[in-house]
Amino acid sequence: MDDLYVGVDLGGTNLRCAVVRRNHEIVQRFECPTKAVEGPNHVIDRIIDGINRALEKSGCGAADIKAAGIGIPGPINQEEGLVYSAPNLPGWNNVPLAGIIQNRVGIAAFVENDANCAGWGEYAVGAGRGCRHMLMVTLGTGIGGAVIIDGKLHIGRDGTAGELGHVCIEHGGRLCGCGARGCVEAYASAPSVVRRFWDLVNAGWESPLAKSSAAVTCQDVFSAAGAGDAVALYVVKKTGEYLGVMIASMAELLNPEICVIAGGMILAGETFFSAIRETCLNWNGHPSRTLSILPAELGANAGLVGAADHARVRTGG
Ligand SMILES: [Zn+2]
Repeated sequence: MDDLYVGVDLGGTNLRCAVVRRNHEIVQRFECPTKAVEGPNHVIDRIIDGINRALEKSGCGAADIKAAGIGIPGPINQEEGLVYSAPNLPGWNNVPLAGIIQNRVGIAAFVENDANCAGWGEYAVGAGRGCRHMLMVTLGTGIGGAVIIDGKLHIGRDGTAGELGHVCIEHGGRLCGCGARGCVEAYASAPSVVRRFWDLVNAGWESPLAKSSAAVTCQDVFSAAGAGDAVALYVVKKTGEYLGVMIASMAELLNPEICVIAGGMILAGETFFSAIRETCLNWNGHPSRTLSILPAELGANAGLVGAADHARVRTGG
């Protein structure tokens, strides 16, 4: 039988656990609400229960598993298996999660940032398979990222590299959720898309979408763009341009083969992708012009598969 690993994707809302083969195939998965408000001890109990349920569904026990990887929505310390903090998980301050899981489940456990796990999943078996140098940008309420250089996840000095959402694209610009100004997250995250849409409408631009609803979501803006709403189309194009500036800058620094874009916005399709691609093409440097920009392929499974494969890498499997 193929070697088995456990992947855990700990989100602020949902917790997913899976048993994953060495070839990245998911054997069985278990999903439940995280119930983050109940605090770290309860969430840890749920992680352990989730792992055990996934094992049970797969017909195996802890002894059959080589290692477990856990994706965390916040900064971590790889070496110490420590979760420094997690903005969407109240009370998580310096939690030695890997050690706790290892002791209570009996499986060697490793933590990694969730965007890094998703990036690693896409690199191993998704849009980035076969390349050596890859960027991944995850678009959602915030913007996450992963950097893979020469077949290795680049984690930096203490495990917190790859925060592509907080790369500055406009010095002194819009205030970001992190407290700094001009981060790309303040220009191209889902809430920023909605904000740009309303800024234009309030400035007098006419949009059928604005008339149809007061609670416009990022998805609404992208759908309206697909249906030809001129304001929405402009917003999607601008969002692509802002991302393109960040991606081109990173490409100039790192010269990756591809940049994978993940998150709900990729469903917007060609208008969005061509705005990103054109910005990179017009950057004119060789690394930007020759960069391939592709949508992610694994969806919600990227984090699970990546976390499991991260555990394989950590154990030298
Ligand atoms: Zn920021």
